[in-house]
Amino acid sequence: MSKKYKIAIVGIYHESNTFVENSTTIEDFYNSHFLRGFEIVTEYKEAFHEIGGMLQVLLTREVEILPLIFAEATPGGIITRDTYEELLSEVLLRVRQSMPLDGCLVVPHGAAVAEGHPDMDGDWLLKVREVLGDSVPIVGTLDPHANVSDNMIEATNALVAYKTNPHLDQRETGIVAAQLLLQYLDGLIIPRQYLVQTNVAISIEQQNTSAQPCRPLYQLAEELAQETGLLSVSIILGFPYADVPEMGTSFIVVTNNDPLKAKSAAERMEGYLTAHQEEFLGTKLSISAIIDKIGRAEKPVLLLDMGDNVGGGAAGDSTFLLSELESNQVANSFVSIVDQTAVREACKHEKGDSFQLSFGRNPDGNNLPYETKVELLDCFDGRFSEKNPRHGGQTQYNMGRTVLVRTEKGTTVMISSLRVPPFSLNQLTAFGIKPEQFNIITAKGVNAPIAAYGPVCATILQVNTPGTTSADMMTFNYRHRRRPLFPFEKEIRPLLHK
Ligand SMILES: [Zn+2]
Repeated sequence: MSKKYKIAIVGIYHESNTFVENSTTIEDFYNSHFLRGFEIVTEYKEAFHEIGGMLQVLLTREVEILPLIFAEATPGGIITRDTYEELLSEVLLRVRQSMPLDGCLVVPHGAAVAEGHPDMDGDWLLKVREVLGDSVPIVGTLDPHANVSDNMIEATNALVAYKTNPHLDQRETGIVAAQLLLQYLDGLIIPRQYLVQTNVAISIEQQNTSAQPCRPLYQLAEELAQETGLLSVSIILGFPYADVPEMGTSFIVVTNNDPLKAKSAAERMEGYLTAHQEEFLGTKLSISAIIDKIGRAEKPVLLLDMGDNVGGGAAGDSTFLLSELESNQVANSFVSIVDQTAVREACKHEKGDSFQLSFGRNPDGNNLPYETKVELLDCFDGRFSEKNPRHGGQTQYNMGRTVLVRTEKGTTVMISSLRVPPFSLNQLTAFGIKPEQFNIITAKGVNAPIAAYGPVCATILQVNTPGTTSADMMTFNYRHRRRPLFPFEKEIRPLLHK
């Protein structure tokens, strides 16, 4: 009879945008998902989330599962020092209390930045490694919007990234990670991983894995993965909105104890990317080019507000698209805005009342709020759930108190108190909003919302809007990124690999 393994699950999960003014605090984790013990199993057992996949595998075996802690906050600004220290000390305390362990599954995002810790994920993973010692295997998952560091690789035995963006294979990725860990414990494999940080940063706009130019890159990874001895080939597209040395695209290859093979496969991936780097620049269509297209386009049209991408850490309060749509007399549009103060103001009125309201801010207009006469259509608690596979893999969402108003010019605006990225259509339908009735629906994201909105929108257009997640990396002032890095430096020589 096989031994009953004792395996812990631990995760701190955040995508930190270092260009955003507001910091991420412990309250932001509590407002999203801060779960301990059995709460983790309840939340994710059935979810299309990596922890769901991990649990699925572990539950098929005689494993003692210790779901210790999973703390996740909506992407946002840098995590404050106090918040990180609080999260880290709880993680380490719980890991210590659960010892001795046979293995540990870790769930970092891979793009967390804390004050004083630009490589926060590398830091907490190394500290977990210190506690566990070298002999306990640590295997984990990564979001492909990670900026992978040597420390993350050093701290773990194997890391595997989701293969899709929108992320629809998170559960499958958790399954792969848990299987690798169990195979290692069973003595069937000895995972060895190799990281190549390339000298290319793929534009966020070009990160849809089912479209060009990503598709052939993923096909190459798939072909390589068929080779004997290769356990996993991960493409880490990168998260452009973090001014850290690791920012950019990387590859992680996990082999069965064959470091040379891992290196050569990772370098083949790098060779492909470098040869095709120009394709990964993005088109960056302006709003005026988009307005020209809207008239002829099949409705509803989904306009993706790339500059105010909530899933990339932006505030979600930009009224830029609203302002452009209304000034260009584009009728029957839907826009969502985060503005707690405006919600409070609107809630002083009754449904059906008309009143003057100012909300959000326009990054193209001195950050001033949008002012208009509105009619209050509805007011709700902002909680909704999602049972289908959607980007992020979450099932429970909370926008806080939320109002629905119609502007004088006829745009429907949903104003919420909390930031929730547009990953689920239930964000509208749960409150009686019918997306198919609009000509234009705007969503504050780049690729992630397509999984939710694609099925109801006949046309999808990404708009190069201003904001803290502008699609144009050249507009950001990076001080810490590695050099040379395409597209900043055009003449790229291969980096020297260790
Ligand atoms: Zn992601």
